[in-house]
Amino acid sequence: MQPVDLVIFGASGDLSARKLFPALFQLLKAGLLPEDLRIAAIARDEVSKEAFLEVLRERFTSRMGEYAPDDDEWQRYSEHFAYIAADFSVIDQYSALKDWLDDARISLFYLATPPSLFAPICSNLDEANCLTGDCRIVLEKPIGESLETSRHVNNTLAKHFDESSIYRIDHYLGKETVQNLLVLRFANRFINSQWDHSCIDHVQITVAETVGIEGRWSYYDNVGQMRDMVQNHLMQLLCLVAMEPPNSLDAESIRDEKVKIVKALRTIDASTVDEHLVRGQYSRGWSVGNAVPGYLEEPGCKASTSNTETFVAIKAHIDNWRWAGVPFYLRTGKRMAEKVTEIIIHYKELPHNIFGRGRNFPNALIIRLQPDEGIEMAMVSKRQSLKDKLALQTHTLNFDFRDGDESERIPDAYERLFLDAINGDQSLFVGREEIEESWRWVDGLIKASEAQSVDAKSYHAGSWGPAKAEILIEKDGRSWH
Ligand code: NDP
Repeated sequence: MQPVDLVIFGASGDLSARKLFPALFQLLKAGLLPEDLRIAAIARDEVSKEAFLEVLRERFTSRMGEYAPDDDEWQRYSEHFAYIAADFSVIDQYSALKDWLDDARISLFYLATPPSLFAPICSNLDEANCLTGDCRIVLEKPIGESLETSRHVNNTLAKHFDESSIYRIDHYLGKETVQNLLVLRFANRFINSQWDHSCIDHVQITVAETVGIEGRWSYYDNVGQMRDMVQNHLMQLLCLVAMEPPNSLDAESIRDEKVKIVKALRTIDASTVDEHLVRGQYSRGWSVGNAVPGYLEEPGCKASTSNTETFVAIKAHIDNWRWAGVPFYLRTGKRMAEKVTEIIIHYKELPHNIFGRGRNFPNALIIRLQPDEGIEMAMVSKRQSLKDKLALQTHTLNFDFRDGDESERIPDAYERLFLDAINGDQSLFVGREEIEESWRWVDGLIKASEAQSVDAKSYHAGSWGPAKAEILIEKDGRSWH
């Protein structure tokens, strides 16, 4: 394999310290990356490499607990690094990077920077002659804030990089459980053959956070939960649950199937938005035992009448053969009662119940991404009892990825994604068409909601969202898991 250089723009940022550098450390420690991997960390601070690494190590130690590097491990890790101080918006400051790059090696540029810098960095890299060898680019979300702006970002990228060299991250795709969902669906005949409207009653996808907007009021108020979470993470999970089996596991085959699902999503327009969308905004309440302010009381709040949503619940339909009549209930919010990300497949009741009234327990498949990654299947069995011959109970089959070894570390999503980007495998990265089609649907939903002035209903921090979100599903005779 051709040797690889990694260039991390935004090396002093939160994402770099929390996710990127720890992921690289774990991969190098496990021997999964080439020994000659070179890493250039770029940020604005005029400091030495040693000073940069010292601060980085402190940030590591506070976050990695028992997995924090010891002195020898840190020494070996440090040897891969160079540190370059530069302001990315200034073309003249790319000369040190140009000198460091080596055309004989693959250059992987990772943009862990504010999205407003994506376009300037691409054009500056080009203008400074940094794109002369085999180059790839990795970008964080968000890619735009609407169909129009995402097209603009994608057009800019396309001027400098071929689509086969662009790696758009949705870190949910790097999670082991998400990849396991594909294996579960497409490597198990009995699951695959029951995966449609004839057996499945409905699907729920919940992405709930306990945190609020974490000091980012101005940013968040322009975006809201719909653009921040639905367009990317929720949409990706929906696609993986709903897509047809791809012809193979290559990126193009998977992307083609995902795009078909986004295109088949029924448009929610002004005439249907009331029955399909609930918006919410958290008010003062409790989070993990602490009193917390409401959204409009958060530090930095600049508009005390803001109607920006911090919660959304959506009832979506996929208009294709497989999913006819199967609703997908999606919800995501901040300051929720629990931090949980899960997909729940609720199976239909049996056509005829021979066990008598009150003894019907429909199956459910629970795919949990957070807090504990895993897959469970709720099945019915008989409880041992001589008194009650038909004592039925729900039993949970637990798919334990760690083969019973609880101490085994589940790799972070960024480890998988780095490894794949370095190996040139785009299958867990998001394609241009997926992003743009997904924005098209979300833009339509936002437009419909604005046309009908759908209010963001207040909910207490630490709850499961506004009461209307319960009604959204309960009026169909169902309830949130
Ligand atoms: P931060 O604001 O913490 O970090 C941004 C980094 O960019 C800093 O290192 C900053 O350097 C650098 N930077 C900004 N402007 C310039 C400039 N002109 N020249 C040189 N360096 C510059 O952001 P995050 O790490 O939180 O996020 C980075 C990206 O990742 C964003 O696109 C975000 O949307 C995305 N993301 C982040 C997640 C997270 O958990 N943090 C999760 C998912 C996506 P300096 O210190 O000098 O300002």
